[in-house]
Amino acid sequence: MKFHVLTIFPEFFRGPFEHGVIQRAREAGLIEIRVHDLRDWTHDRHRTVDDRPFGGGEGMLLKAEPIFEAVESILPERGTDRRILLMSAQGRKFDQARARELSGLKEILLICGRYEGVDERVAEHLADEEISIGDFVLSGGELAAAVVIDAVARLQAGVLGNENSTLAESFSENGLLDCPQYTRPAEYRGWKAPEVLLGGNHEEIRKWRSKAAREKTARLRPDLLRPDLIKEGNLYEQRSVDQGSEQE
Ligand code: SAH
Repeated sequence: MKFHVLTIFPEFFRGPFEHGVIQRAREAGLIEIRVHDLRDWTHDRHRTVDDRPFGGGEGMLLKAEPIFEAVESILPERGTDRRILLMSAQGRKFDQARARELSGLKEILLICGRYEGVDERVAEHLADEEISIGDFVLSGGELAAAVVIDAVARLQAGVLGNENSTLAESFSENGLLDCPQYTRPAEYRGWKAPEVLLGGNHEEIRKWRSKAAREKTARLRPDLLRPDLIKEGNLYEQRSVDQGSEQE
Protein backbone atom coordinates (compact mmCIF):
# COMPACT_ATOMS: atom_id res chain seq x y z
CA MET A 1 0.00 0.00 0.00
CA LYS A 2 1.20 3.48 -0.83
CA PHE A 3 0.77 6.50 1.47
CA HIS A 4 1.30 10.11 0.42
CA VAL A 5 1.50 13.00 2.86
CA LEU A 6 1.15 16.60 1.78
CA THR A 7 2.66 19.00 4.32
CA ILE A 8 4.53 22.26 4.76
CA PHE A 9 6.82 20.45 7.23
CA PRO A 10 8.21 17.40 5.43
CA GLU A 11 11.05 17.08 7.99
CA PHE A 12 8.42 16.37 10.62
CA PHE A 13 8.09 12.82 9.28
CA ARG A 14 11.76 11.90 9.72
CA GLY A 15 10.86 10.42 13.11
CA PRO A 16 7.51 8.66 13.03
CA PHE A 17 8.13 6.26 10.18
CA GLU A 18 11.72 5.36 10.95
CA HIS A 19 11.19 2.98 13.83
CA GLY A 20 9.98 -0.49 14.58
CA VAL A 21 7.57 -2.41 12.39
CA ILE A 22 6.80 0.59 10.14
CA GLN A 23 10.45 1.08 9.26
CA ARG A 24 10.86 -2.65 8.61
CA ALA A 25 7.73 -2.74 6.46
CA ARG A 26 9.09 0.11 4.35
CA GLU A 27 12.42 -1.63 3.94
CA ALA A 28 10.66 -4.85 2.96
CA GLY A 29 8.60 -2.95 0.38
CA LEU A 30 5.28 -3.89 2.05
CA ILE A 31 4.34 -0.23 2.31
CA GLU A 32 5.63 2.93 0.71
CA ILE A 33 5.38 6.35 2.35
CA ARG A 34 6.03 9.45 0.28
CA VAL A 35 6.17 12.85 1.92
CA HIS A 36 5.53 15.84 -0.36
CA ASP A 37 6.39 19.47 0.36
CA LEU A 38 3.37 21.65 -0.39
CA ARG A 39 5.70 24.55 -1.25
CA ASP A 40 6.84 22.65 -4.35
CA TRP A 41 3.48 23.62 -5.90
CA THR A 42 3.76 27.37 -5.31
CA HIS A 43 4.79 29.72 -8.09
CA ASP A 44 5.92 32.86 -6.32
CA ARG A 45 9.37 33.79 -5.03
CA HIS A 46 8.29 33.42 -1.40
CA ARG A 47 6.67 30.03 -1.98
CA THR A 48 3.51 31.28 -0.32
CA VAL A 49 1.11 28.62 0.95
CA ASP A 50 -1.09 30.70 3.27
CA ASP A 51 -3.24 33.81 3.23
CA ARG A 52 -5.66 35.73 5.45
CA PRO A 53 -9.23 34.51 5.85
CA PHE A 54 -11.95 36.43 4.01
CA GLY A 55 -14.25 38.21 6.43
CA GLY A 56 -11.44 38.86 8.88
CA GLY A 57 -10.45 36.97 11.97
CA GLU A 58 -7.35 35.54 13.53
CA GLY A 59 -4.49 33.83 11.78
CA MET A 60 -3.90 32.41 8.35
CA LEU A 61 -5.33 29.63 6.20
CA LEU A 62 -3.63 27.25 3.79
CA LYS A 63 -4.55 28.38 0.28
CA ALA A 64 -6.51 26.16 -2.07
CA GLU A 65 -4.35 26.49 -5.24
CA PRO A 66 -1.13 24.73 -4.18
CA ILE A 67 -3.13 21.96 -2.50
CA PHE A 68 -5.28 21.31 -5.60
CA GLU A 69 -2.22 21.37 -7.87
CA ALA A 70 -0.25 19.07 -5.58
CA VAL A 71 -3.03 16.53 -5.16
CA GLU A 72 -3.81 16.49 -8.88
CA SER A 73 -0.17 15.86 -9.74
CA ILE A 74 0.52 13.31 -6.96
CA LEU A 75 -2.67 11.32 -7.56
CA PRO A 76 -3.84 12.03 -11.10
CA GLU A 77 -6.07 8.97 -10.98
CA ARG A 78 -8.74 8.91 -8.32
CA GLY A 79 -11.06 6.02 -7.60
CA THR A 80 -12.54 3.88 -4.88
CA ASP A 81 -9.14 2.36 -4.07
CA ARG A 82 -7.31 5.70 -4.08
CA ARG A 83 -8.60 8.20 -1.54
CA ILE A 84 -7.78 11.74 -0.53
CA LEU A 85 -8.15 12.49 3.15
CA LEU A 86 -8.06 15.91 4.73
CA MET A 87 -6.81 15.87 8.30
CA SER A 88 -9.30 18.02 10.19
CA ALA A 89 -10.64 18.44 13.72
CA GLN A 90 -14.07 18.62 12.07
CA GLY A 91 -13.91 15.26 10.34
CA ARG A 92 -15.43 11.90 11.09
CA LYS A 93 -13.63 10.37 14.03
CA PHE A 94 -10.94 7.86 13.13
CA ASP A 95 -11.09 4.45 14.82
CA GLN A 96 -9.89 0.87 14.36
CA ALA A 97 -12.83 0.00 12.08
CA ARG A 98 -11.92 2.90 9.79
CA ALA A 99 -8.25 1.86 9.91
CA ARG A 100 -9.32 -1.59 8.68
CA GLU A 101 -11.37 -0.10 5.85
CA LEU A 102 -8.53 2.14 4.75
CA SER A 103 -6.05 -0.74 4.93
CA GLY A 104 -7.85 -2.33 1.97
CA LEU A 105 -7.06 0.59 -0.34
CA LYS A 106 -4.18 0.85 -2.82
CA GLU A 107 -3.16 4.40 -2.15
CA ILE A 108 -4.15 7.21 0.21
CA LEU A 109 -3.09 10.82 0.28
CA LEU A 110 -3.31 12.71 3.56
CA ILE A 111 -3.45 16.50 3.47
CA CYS A 112 -2.08 18.19 6.60
CA GLY A 113 -3.62 21.51 7.57
CA ARG A 114 -1.78 24.18 9.56
CA TYR A 115 -2.50 27.58 11.12
CA GLU A 116 -6.26 28.20 11.37
CA GLY A 117 -6.94 25.43 8.89
CA VAL A 118 -7.46 25.04 5.17
CA ASP A 119 -9.56 26.92 2.59
CA GLU A 120 -12.91 25.10 2.75
CA ARG A 121 -12.93 24.40 -1.00
CA VAL A 122 -10.36 21.66 -0.34
CA ALA A 123 -12.91 19.86 1.86
CA GLU A 124 -15.78 20.63 -0.51
CA HIS A 125 -14.25 19.82 -3.88
CA LEU A 126 -10.97 17.93 -3.49
CA ALA A 127 -10.86 15.63 -0.47
CA ASP A 128 -12.99 12.49 -0.38
CA GLU A 129 -13.45 13.01 3.34
CA GLU A 130 -12.27 14.89 6.42
CA ILE A 131 -10.71 12.73 9.12
CA SER A 132 -10.26 13.67 12.78
CA ILE A 133 -8.20 11.69 15.27
CA GLY A 134 -10.27 12.94 18.21
CA ASP A 135 -12.26 15.80 19.66
CA PHE A 136 -9.37 18.14 20.32
CA VAL A 137 -7.50 20.67 18.24
CA LEU A 138 -3.89 20.07 17.19
CA SER A 139 -1.61 22.73 15.78
CA GLY A 140 -1.27 20.83 12.52
CA GLY A 141 -2.37 17.75 10.64
CA GLU A 142 1.08 16.10 10.67
CA LEU A 143 0.70 14.26 13.98
CA ALA A 144 -2.78 13.17 12.95
CA ALA A 145 -1.53 11.90 9.57
CA ALA A 146 1.25 9.96 11.30
CA VAL A 147 -1.32 8.37 13.61
CA VAL A 148 -3.56 7.31 10.72
CA ILE A 149 -0.66 5.96 8.65
CA ASP A 150 0.73 3.98 11.57
CA ALA A 151 -2.63 2.41 12.40
CA VAL A 152 -3.36 1.54 8.75
CA ALA A 153 0.13 0.38 7.84
CA ARG A 154 0.40 -2.15 10.67
CA LEU A 155 -2.73 -3.86 9.34
CA GLN A 156 -1.10 -4.61 5.98
CA ALA A 157 -0.36 -8.26 5.45
CA GLY A 158 3.08 -9.20 6.65
CA VAL A 159 3.81 -5.98 8.55
CA LEU A 160 3.44 -7.46 12.03
CA GLY A 161 4.79 -10.84 11.08
CA ASN A 162 2.16 -12.66 13.12
CA GLU A 163 -1.24 -12.26 11.42
CA ASN A 164 -3.11 -13.25 14.56
CA SER A 165 -1.74 -10.35 16.48
CA THR A 166 -4.20 -7.92 14.88
CA LEU A 167 -7.19 -10.20 15.52
CA ALA A 168 -6.99 -10.49 19.28
CA GLU A 169 -6.12 -6.88 20.01
CA SER A 170 -8.22 -4.00 21.28
CA PHE A 171 -11.18 -2.82 19.14
CA SER A 172 -10.86 -5.81 16.87
CA GLU A 173 -13.20 -8.62 16.03
CA ASN A 174 -14.96 -8.99 19.36
CA GLY A 175 -15.02 -5.22 19.92
CA LEU A 176 -13.43 -5.46 23.37
CA LEU A 177 -10.14 -4.29 24.79
CA ASP A 178 -7.24 -6.72 24.61
CA CYS A 179 -6.70 -8.93 27.65
CA PRO A 180 -4.07 -7.92 30.24
CA GLN A 181 -0.68 -9.49 29.53
CA TYR A 182 2.38 -10.17 31.66
CA THR A 183 5.97 -11.14 31.05
CA ARG A 184 8.91 -12.16 33.23
CA PRO A 185 9.57 -11.94 36.14
CA ALA A 186 6.56 -13.89 37.38
CA GLU A 187 6.71 -11.86 40.58
CA TYR A 188 7.75 -8.21 40.70
CA ARG A 189 7.76 -6.18 43.94
CA GLY A 190 5.41 -8.73 45.37
CA TRP A 191 2.91 -8.45 42.49
CA LYS A 192 2.35 -11.80 40.86
CA ALA A 193 1.40 -12.52 37.29
CA PRO A 194 -1.82 -14.58 37.25
CA GLU A 195 -0.97 -18.19 38.09
CA VAL A 196 -3.03 -19.61 35.24
CA LEU A 197 -0.80 -17.93 32.64
CA LEU A 198 2.29 -19.65 34.02
CA GLY A 199 0.87 -23.15 33.60
CA GLY A 200 0.48 -24.85 30.27
CA ASN A 201 -3.28 -25.41 30.32
CA HIS A 202 -4.32 -23.75 27.06
CA GLU A 203 -8.02 -24.09 27.67
CA GLU A 204 -7.73 -22.44 31.10
CA ILE A 205 -5.56 -19.67 29.65
CA ARG A 206 -8.07 -19.03 26.90
CA LYS A 207 -10.92 -18.78 29.41
CA TRP A 208 -8.96 -16.52 31.72
CA ARG A 209 -8.04 -14.16 28.87
CA SER A 210 -11.57 -13.96 27.63
CA LYS A 211 -12.91 -13.15 31.11
CA ALA A 212 -10.10 -10.70 31.89
CA ALA A 213 -10.64 -8.83 28.59
CA ARG A 214 -14.31 -8.49 29.38
CA GLU A 215 -13.62 -7.30 32.92
CA LYS A 216 -11.07 -4.74 31.84
CA THR A 217 -13.41 -3.45 29.13
CA ALA A 218 -16.21 -3.10 31.68
CA ARG A 219 -13.91 -1.21 34.01
CA LEU A 220 -12.18 1.14 31.55
CA ARG A 221 -14.46 1.33 28.53
CA PRO A 222 -18.01 0.34 29.50
CA ASP A 223 -19.20 2.16 26.36
CA LEU A 224 -17.73 -0.71 24.30
CA LEU A 225 -19.96 -3.25 26.02
CA ARG A 226 -23.17 -2.08 24.39
CA PRO A 227 -24.83 -5.38 23.38
CA ASP A 228 -25.20 -4.31 19.77
CA LEU A 229 -21.44 -3.77 19.51
CA ILE A 230 -20.30 -7.09 20.93
CA LYS A 231 -19.67 -9.83 18.48
CA GLU A 232 -19.70 -13.45 19.37
CA GLY A 233 -16.66 -15.63 19.28
CA ASN A 234 -13.65 -16.05 21.43
CA LEU A 235 -10.56 -14.59 19.92
CA TYR A 236 -8.23 -16.02 22.46
CA GLU A 237 -8.55 -19.26 20.62
CA GLN A 238 -6.72 -17.50 17.83
CA ARG A 239 -3.97 -16.06 19.99
CA SER A 240 -1.34 -18.70 20.19
CA VAL A 241 -0.94 -19.35 23.90
CA ASP A 242 2.70 -20.22 23.66
CA GLN A 243 3.44 -17.29 21.38
CA GLY A 244 7.08 -16.38 21.91
CA SER A 245 8.62 -12.94 21.96
CA GLU A 246 6.71 -10.05 20.39
CA GLN A 247 7.95 -8.61 17.12
CA GLU A 248 9.04 -5.23 18.42
N1 SAH B 1 -9.69 26.20 13.00
C1 SAH B 1 -9.77 24.75 13.02
C2 SAH B 1 -8.54 24.11 13.64
C3 SAH B 1 -7.29 24.25 12.82
S1 SAH B 1 -5.96 23.40 13.51
C4 SAH B 1 -10.99 24.33 13.81
O1 SAH B 1 -11.31 25.01 14.78
O2 SAH B 1 -11.62 23.30 13.49
C5 SAH B 1 -4.85 23.26 12.15
C6 SAH B 1 -4.84 21.94 11.42
O3 SAH B 1 -4.49 20.90 12.32
C7 SAH B 1 -6.14 21.52 10.81
O4 SAH B 1 -6.33 22.11 9.54
C8 SAH B 1 -5.97 20.01 10.69
O5 SAH B 1 -5.28 19.65 9.53
C9 SAH B 1 -5.11 19.69 11.90
N2 SAH B 1 -5.88 19.16 13.03
C10 SAH B 1 -6.20 19.81 14.17
N3 SAH B 1 -6.89 19.03 15.00
C11 SAH B 1 -7.04 17.83 14.38
C12 SAH B 1 -7.67 16.60 14.72
N4 SAH B 1 -8.31 16.45 15.88
N5 SAH B 1 -7.61 15.59 13.83
C13 SAH B 1 -6.98 15.74 12.65
N6 SAH B 1 -6.36 16.87 12.26
C14 SAH B 1 -6.39 17.92 13.12
